Amino acid sequence: MTRITVAKGDGIGPEIMDATLAIIQAAGAKIEIDEIEVGEKVYLAGNTSGIAKESWDIIRRNKIFLKAPITTPQGGGYKSLNVTTRKFLGLYANIRPCISLHPFVQTKHPIMDVVIVRENEEDLYAGIEHQQTDEVVQCLKLISRPGCEKIVRYAFEYAKQYGRKKVTCFTKDNIMKQTDGLFHQVFDEIAKEYPEIENEHWIIDIGAAKMADTPEAFDVIVMPNLYGDVLSDVAAQIAGSVGLAGSANIGEQCAMFEAIHGSAPRRAGQNMANPSGLLQGAIMMLNHIGQTEVAEKVQNAWLKTIEDGIHTYDIYKEATSKQKVGTREFAEAVIANLGKKPSQLKPVTYAKSTTLNLKKYSRKAPAKKELVGVDLFVQWNENSADRLAELLKPVQLSDVSLSMITNRGIKVWPEGFEETFCTDHWRCRFKPSNERLLTKEEIIQLLQRATANQIDVIKTENLYHFDGKPAFSLGQGQ
Ligand code: NAD
Repeated sequence: MTRITVAKGDGIGPEIMDATLAIIQAAGAKIEIDEIEVGEKVYLAGNTSGIAKESWDIIRRNKIFLKAPITTPQGGGYKSLNVTTRKFLGLYANIRPCISLHPFVQTKHPIMDVVIVRENEEDLYAGIEHQQTDEVVQCLKLISRPGCEKIVRYAFEYAKQYGRKKVTCFTKDNIMKQTDGLFHQVFDEIAKEYPEIENEHWIIDIGAAKMADTPEAFDVIVMPNLYGDVLSDVAAQIAGSVGLAGSANIGEQCAMFEAIHGSAPRRAGQNMANPSGLLQGAIMMLNHIGQTEVAEKVQNAWLKTIEDGIHTYDIYKEATSKQKVGTREFAEAVIANLGKKPSQLKPVTYAKSTTLNLKKYSRKAPAKKELVGVDLFVQWNENSADRLAELLKPVQLSDVSLSMITNRGIKVWPEGFEETFCTDHWRCRFKPSNERLLTKEEIIQLLQRATANQIDVIKTENLYHFDGKPAFSLGQGQ
């Protein structure tokens, strides 16, 4: 028996949760349920996180959370409960299988069967943003080695446990050599531990185009947070419908399972909504807690029901459907099919155990880290880089001098192009003139001199070599 936390959510949430629970319980799921309230009512009662403290206690105690969609009220500083839950509970992996159900659900991609594994905690979603000058704002893209190792290992372990043949990595490391570069590098390292699984890397732009055009070329795809957010919706949509997909958010201790769609308030309370998305989430949950036989039974009964043409309004089509049903009737049809298998769609067989063998991250010995220079970022409201270089002359130390100025990454001094468009945000790179290292005291001196010379420094970044290798970007055109 596994004790789980359930939240019925808002809008169509309660109906699809009741349907989902009825199906999995009829299939013999060994679960005990603690129900909590999250979402609109909690938000409107004045709790901007949408969840009460006592509910966190229950979620943390049970560790397994099945959540129906909730309505986030517009405006008013309400925080997204999904984002908070993922971050608080360390749910680093977002798993979204996207399978087409041709010819029973319309799709342009009849043989698509892709699982998107999205990193869920870092990247641009760390939410660290600052306005730095009148004209420029910044969002920090943070990619960590543990973050990469955990998600890439998850993707390969998932592929292994679910009998998948290939893991593909999507990044843009031709441009972001440090951040996406690390993700790609870790992918290559971990892929070596799984020689039986094919691996490949695509640059995200052409990879995304290929996925939208020929999804059958892919199996499991792992990617950083932002790309995964966008492409997992694309994948679900081209498989047939976002209304049919579920997703799992997995952490080292806790996990949350849900449908990918929202609370569809206009359809609420009418016994119309399709419970399939949440049911898919629940099937992932059953696999996660080791009840794989029940998961298999439910999935095959669900496939059979879809194949029988028993469809809710959202996927109902005269030509392919047989009967338009409501939420409850759909659930009853799935329950009646428990123990049966689809004949045209491929039935699933899950391994006895789908527990993933996830090695804990272990920190490596620190590299040799050498400070070789510093970038002073400056707000300056004129346009001539040559003039800025003149103004920076008195900031230089006896043997620490200005080596480069860039504007939005492109080198504008020395020898810039007058055609280059410049904003008020300048990166001014200072390095010791002979190959020696820089000291932190010298950075302070540079800052003091800048202040004394009315240079408006808005931030600094240290330039390091790690184990002798430069670990910062050059100026574009440098
Ligand atoms: P939505 O996904 O709720 O609905 C969009 C449309 O899709 C609906 O009008 C409906 O026609 C259809 N639809 C969605 N799910 C369906 C189902 N199971 N069966 C049949 N039809 C279905 O998106 P929205 O209208 O943009 O958002 C509504 C609310 O949901 C918002 O408050 C939003 O913040 C919230 N939301 C919550 C989650 C979540 O809790 N995970 C995710 C997305 C959106």
